[in-house]
Amino acid sequence: MSRTNEMNEELKEIATDILLKIEAIKTCPIHDDILLDQYFGEDECYARATALYKKEYGSHLPYSFEAFHDAIKEVSSETYDECPDCGEE
Ligand SMILES: [Zn+2]
Repeated sequence: MSRTNEMNEELKEIATDILLKIEAIKTCPIHDDILLDQYFGEDECYARATALYKKEYGSHLPYSFEAFHDAIKEVSSETYDECPDCGEE
């Protein structure tokens, strides 16, 4: 949460929400501020995320696909393979 000024928070929230919905990431069931990587390949992750972004926001995309992809990358880089507190994967 210390990198807030590097990227638009709203965009990051959208990206996080979409990654959760396509199940590329999940929230630790015990520690709800910890995001866990669910091991999608990067290409598949982008493809699924972009499809859902299009579906949810249609012709009124709040951010460009390029910006969205950057946000997906940024959010993914902040996830864990397993929860540092409880080991949940
Ligand atoms: Zn945990």
